[in-house]
Amino acid sequence: MQGHTLFLSTRNAHKRKEVQDILGHRFKVVGPEDFGCTDDVEETGQTLEENAVLKAQAYAHLGMPVLADDSGLEIDALDGAPGVFSARFAGPEGSAAHNLQKVLSLMQGKTNRTARFRTVLAYFDGQQMHTFSGAVSGVLLEEARGFGGFGYDPLFVAAGDVRSFAELDSEEKNRRSHRMRALEAWLDFLKGQPGFSNFS
Ligand code: IMP
Repeated sequence: MQGHTLFLSTRNAHKRKEVQDILGHRFKVVGPEDFGCTDDVEETGQTLEENAVLKAQAYAHLGMPVLADDSGLEIDALDGAPGVFSARFAGPEGSAAHNLQKVLSLMQGKTNRTARFRTVLAYFDGQQMHTFSGAVSGVLLEEARGFGGFGYDPLFVAAGDVRSFAELDSEEKNRRSHRMRALEAWLDFLKGQPGFSNFS
């Protein structure tokens, strides 16, 4: 049985699949394409929080709960870059492969390879905006490894593991990811809201 309908403000199919897989039967995730929207929301914010809120606000008029996810990779040796600029790190037309290449070249010879993935969720419940975040710490590899996941996953090994996120199967990534942690914080909040009190 599918539960509540949730509008996820993303045109990124990987993100949408991860969110749907993590939420399971509790939510039916729908997105811009289901409403004929093909424009990207401009990410003009200076922080993940600002961009997540912009993405949720863009669909607040639909009259249903809206969730938006803005995520980034924060590399300590690069003072937190690419961070909020993760999607466009190699330029506005840059592909995921170009972004990876840019990170690898900037990180060449760096001994401090610590980094974290961070997700900020913005939730518009029809009246108010709420934000939630989740992060996972780890280290960056010296070359890309694995074919799963998306974005910077082939470069990132979570603390306590030896495999990159792209070498994990999707269930395993979803059990430990920044996105899962942010979604857990949101689910905890929802449990205290009317209509969600018997939520598991
Ligand atoms: P945005 O949140 O859609 O702005 O994405 C920011 C950038 O981070 C994009 O280049 C994504 O590919 C990348 N990204 C977002 N989430 C993940 C993830 O879970 N793993 C790896 N890269 C990610």
